[in-house]
Amino acid sequence: MKKLSIICPCFNEEMSINIFYQELIDQISSLNYELIFIDDGSSDDTLSNIKNLADLDENIKFVSFSRNFGKESAIYAGLELSSGDYVVLIDVDLQDPPNYIPEMINIIESTDYDIIATRRVSRKGEPVIRSFFARLFYKIINKVSNLDLVDGARDYRLMTRQVVDSILELNEYNRFSKGLFNWIGFKTKWLEYENIERKTGETSWSFWLLVKYSIEGIVGFTTVPLQISTVFGIIFSLIAFILIIFIVIRKLLYSDPVAGWTSTICVILLLGGIQLFSIGILGKYLEKTYIETKNRPIYIIKETNIE
Ligand code: UDP
Ligand code: MG
Repeated sequence: MKKLSIICPCFNEEMSINIFYQELIDQISSLNYELIFIDDGSSDDTLSNIKNLADLDENIKFVSFSRNFGKESAIYAGLELSSGDYVVLIDVDLQDPPNYIPEMINIIESTDYDIIATRRVSRKGEPVIRSFFARLFYKIINKVSNLDLVDGARDYRLMTRQVVDSILELNEYNRFSKGLFNWIGFKTKWLEYENIERKTGETSWSFWLLVKYSIEGIVGFTTVPLQISTVFGIIFSLIAFILIIFIVIRKLLYSDPVAGWTSTICVILLLGGIQLFSIGILGKYLEKTYIETKNRPIYIIKETNIE
């Protein structure tokens, strides 16, 4: 019987752990499984709840990070520690319904798909502005990068060992998992379901965090923004060149007296703004390169029951 690894990142989820386990175990108890909880530096009772479960079920493994490293790092740790032939990534808040797991296994065993992924087809229960920006983000990133991200795609998925090993080869520090999953390729089958709201607790994603996450995605997967500043540079140099000729000729013909303070200031402000914007973009890439060259570990484990 093939082995199934289930990876579940948790950050301040003390209320969700037990409910999640009850729902999950109904689906997988007959399988050969390991359940890996990643405690991503929670400050509540998440870890002790996990330990209590681990005392009851010997298939439960856990690692606890020394601080909050973020879901992306937790996913990486889980994949690294997993040993199954099939690996499932799932959230602990029950927004990813565990009853899809048997179906996923069925499909992967009976077809030649390598990844069975999920996407939500509605954004029910989400603020309108957030949905709007989310859609905009998908449009932009698909245009400017060679990724093909699916709107509403969740991290909830089942992968073969081969796929997991490919993900692990992408051991960069700045991890944008949605992009990484797409970048490696392989054949993906999408299962769809309606958005499900969290059972307990609150999402840890503020609007601002999502904006930062989007920038991560774009900077991580395309250098088009750098080219945009070059294009700005070329356009404005051309305009400046034409203006210079115009002004010099006018000066020679009419010896124009000084005038137009307002327009001068406008041009200076505009150019200054564009220059700062471009330097900002440059800085963003430099920052990523700088962090990446430090080669820091993606996560640090404080405690675990895995030998
Ligand atoms: N999570 C994590 N580290 C973090 C933030 C979240 O491991 O820094 C976990 C969280 O416990 C949950 C999953 O990632 O199991 C998804 O988080 P959340 O529900 O907040 O995100 P959403 O479903 O709103 O995208
Ligand atoms: Mg959630």
